[in-house]
Amino acid sequence: MIYAIISDIHGNLEALETVIADAEKRKAERIICLGDIVGYGANPKECIEKVKSFHDVVCAGNHDHAATNQTDTSYFNLYARKAVTWTSAQLTRQDMSYIRSFPYVFEEEDFTAVHANLIKPEQWGYIFDDFDAVPNFVAMKKNLCFIGHSHVPLAFEKGEDIRPYYNLREMEIKEDHKYIFNVGSVGQPRDADPRASYCLLDTAAMTVEWRRLNYDIVSAQKKIIEAGLPYFLAERLQIGR
Ligand code: ZN
Repeated sequence: MIYAIISDIHGNLEALETVIADAEKRKAERIICLGDIVGYGANPKECIEKVKSFHDVVCAGNHDHAATNQTDTSYFNLYARKAVTWTSAQLTRQDMSYIRSFPYVFEEEDFTAVHANLIKPEQWGYIFDDFDAVPNFVAMKKNLCFIGHSHVPLAFEKGEDIRPYYNLREMEIKEDHKYIFNVGSVGQPRDADPRASYCLLDTAAMTVEWRRLNYDIVSAQKKIIEAGLPYFLAERLQIGR
C-alpha cells in the first residue's frame, strides 16, 4: 500500500493542489492528513473542500482548533492570531463542524498519525530534537509514527539509541527499529526550502520518501496580500521560514 501523508496545508490551495496531483501520479492509494488545513493562507474554505474531496483521515491541528475556538491562542504570535481571526470569519457552521470532527490520533495497521505529539496531543508539544522524541517513542504502540506541526521535515530512528536525520530524500525502514517521521509542511515550509513537502509511505517496499515540489508561490502570496492578511505571511512563503 502506498500512503501519501500530508500536513500543515495552512490555507495554501496552490501548494495543496500541486501535492495532491503529485501523490496521484505516484499512485498513492490513501491520503492521510495530519491537520492544520487552515490558518495563515488565503484559501481556508477551498482547502477544506479539497481535503473533503479525498477525505480519508484528517487529524486535528492546533490552527484547526484555534479557528473553531477549541484551543487557547494566547501563545500564538501576532501574525498567527490575526490569521486565526480572519480564518474564523471565513468558515461556515458546516466547515466548523467538519473540523470539530477530526480526531487527535489516528491508528492504522502499520503506523500512528498525530499532528504534534502523542503525549497529550491536545497540548501540541513540539518534537524538535531527540530529547523531545523520547517520550513520544515510549507512547508509540506501532513502530512508525507520522507527525507535522514544526513544518520541518525530519526523522528520528530508535535502535539502540535515538538518531535524528535532516534533509532526507528517502529512508529505508528497518523492521526492528522505531521511527518518528515529520512530513514537513504543504503550505508553509520552514526549513529554508520554499517547496511544498509531504511523504510517501510504501508499506511493501518499507520506505518513506520526502517529496519537495515547486508550486505557484506568487499566486498564493497575491491572495494573502489581497485578503488583508499580514504581509509577512506572504513574504515567508518565498524564503521557506
Ligand atoms: Zn502548522
